[in-house]
Amino acid sequence: MRRLKHKHTRRAVQFYEINYGFRKPFKVILDGNFVHALRETHMGDPAEILAKLLGGPVKLYVTRCSLLELQGLGSDFSATYGAAKRAGLHLSCGHDDAALTTTDCILDNVGKDNPQHYFVATQDKALRVALGNLPGGASVFVNVNGVQLEQPSEAQKRAVKKVDDSNMRVQKHELSQQALAELAELQKGPKEKSIFKRKKSSAPNPLSMKKKQKRPMPPQPSTQVGDAEKPKRKRVRKRAKDDSGQSEEQA
Ligand SMILES: [Zn+2]
Repeated sequence: MRRLKHKHTRRAVQFYEINYGFRKPFKVILDGNFVHALRETHMGDPAEILAKLLGGPVKLYVTRCSLLELQGLGSDFSATYGAAKRAGLHLSCGHDDAALTTTDCILDNVGKDNPQHYFVATQDKALRVALGNLPGGASVFVNVNGVQLEQPSEAQKRAVKKVDDSNMRVQKHELSQQALAELAELQKGPKEKSIFKRKKSSAPNPLSMKKKQKRPMPPQPSTQVGDAEKPKRKRVRKRAKDDSGQSEEQA
């Protein structure tokens, strides 16, 4: 059971990290009733418990409105009020002029899509549901099994899936475009190459052949002349040798 809970919690934290940009140290706003539940169950230090649950260092906050609310609950909650005051940094929630209920104060600080990436530790079921309906809303609560991280809501999963699907569609579109472009290049490529090859293979040969044919044509007679001259010279030389030989013989 513990392993399964740990696995589910780790996956939920990863969901918030990947899809909504939650980062360590994780910021957690503590609700007065959460601090009270921790005290009642003697679970120990909120920072230690939450760090263990979320799998990383945490930064705890308590809003001014929730402290005022606890203070207003009288002596039964005076110990919880003291614990809440010590539990985390006092978040200047922006309601100095007129304090809000803890729920309204926290929802106001989380905002439309939780840009500050707050986990909210609260026992208020309605607040947890409201957070689940916000993009990036995340909550933690105490039950008989200890401190739990609320699993991402169906609305959040659907929203993320929608984004993923549209990203996939864009990627697929880009890929198909790329594939088409590559295909077009491939189709062009061989044709161009074959044309070049043909030009290269066909162009030089006929030209060179023509040039050779054209050039040799006029010189052919000259070579014939040369050939004719050469034997004449040889004959002349032979005659000269013969003459010299004759002359030597004669001499
Ligand atoms: Zn406030």
